[in-house]
Amino acid sequence: MSNLRFESKVVHAGVRPDPVSGAVMTPIYQTSTYAQEDVGQHKGYEYSRTDNPTRSALQEAMAVLEGGGFALAFSSGMAAIDTLLRLLKPGDHVVCGDDLYGGTHRLFDKILSSFGLEFSFIDTTRLDDIASSIHDRTKMIWLETPSNPLLRLVDISGVAAVAREADIWLGVDNTLASPALQQPLAMGADFAVHSTTKYLGGHSDVVGGVIVLNDPDLNDRLKFIQNAAGAVPGPMDCFLTLRGIKTLALRMEAHSSNATQIAQYLGQHRSVEKVIYPGLPSHPQYELANRQMTRPGGMISFTHRLGEEAARIIAKETKLFTLAESLGGVESLIELPAPMTHFSVADSPIAVDPDLIRLSVGIEHVADLIDDLETAIWKADKDEDEGSVNRE
Ligand code: PLP
Repeated sequence: MSNLRFESKVVHAGVRPDPVSGAVMTPIYQTSTYAQEDVGQHKGYEYSRTDNPTRSALQEAMAVLEGGGFALAFSSGMAAIDTLLRLLKPGDHVVCGDDLYGGTHRLFDKILSSFGLEFSFIDTTRLDDIASSIHDRTKMIWLETPSNPLLRLVDISGVAAVAREADIWLGVDNTLASPALQQPLAMGADFAVHSTTKYLGGHSDVVGGVIVLNDPDLNDRLKFIQNAAGAVPGPMDCFLTLRGIKTLALRMEAHSSNATQIAQYLGQHRSVEKVIYPGLPSHPQYELANRQMTRPGGMISFTHRLGEEAARIIAKETKLFTLAESLGGVESLIELPAPMTHFSVADSPIAVDPDLIRLSVGIEHVADLIDDLETAIWKADKDEDEGSVNRE
């Protein structure tokens, strides 16, 4: 499998004809338990919290796609991150980004810190700041690149060198890129983590998460926690994710191509103040994006010159872009992170500006998507002309 190109891996990894029936797609093994021939004599499966064949297929696929030795699947991206952090003990310290997904910040700041873990939220785009935040209790660096929703990039290889030097772990949330665009383990990370709810599932119909890694001892420890704590995905969810993965390469190409054209369109629009997209030369880390990612991805953030009220009009008025949380599905979504996905960090130092609009660009025809945005932005502009937009 490792000699195949990515487009072939997504179709075949983890999936082989079912030995019982020859079914080409991995069956949904909708069972909680497995018959034993004698006490302790079974076919490798005892109880579905511990293992399930549909989950095993998904885990195998994810290990192949991220170039890792092992993968463990979870009931959500947050469950995957929570499980990974359970490798640590009270008193341990983690250096992490200051613009993490709001739910990750909430987990770290509001839950895990009360179990004695300590977190430093810093600008992880600055390697020197990462190095100087590490002390004798630091056990892990946690990155999100591109970050959600500011789409900042972190130099994974650079941070991996810092982590190696300090003999600590590096975990990378690879959700926004997906393994089609970026593979953190090959750049020196110890863990690649995903919300498979997003690009991997790809159809906005399933919630899940995964951890991929190379170290067999750490895999054993994480598998023990996976089974002991039990935040596992059901077989139907694993099946849906596996099915989504088959088109990941095609979808990421379409997401990136559409997003590039939309970012260019927004960049020249007179009413748009700022566009953040790693594929635009105006992105501060455009050069790193070219080096680290095979394509710039499907996420764009932007602001309208009239601020929050105009942003709310645009988010409400688009028709093809559905106003909804989440990202990475085939259908385009629009949201305002501050009152929506990142509401949990509203009162924290990492709060997102209220006028920021986030697009998850889908795979519809790009001209239809641009028409949709054009009409919504026109409505926001028109409201200003009619004096209903507050200019304060
Ligand atoms: N990581 C990132 C970057 C995310 O955007 C999200 C959800 O939006 C998560 C993790 C959490 O994933 P889930 O919603 O599957 O728990």
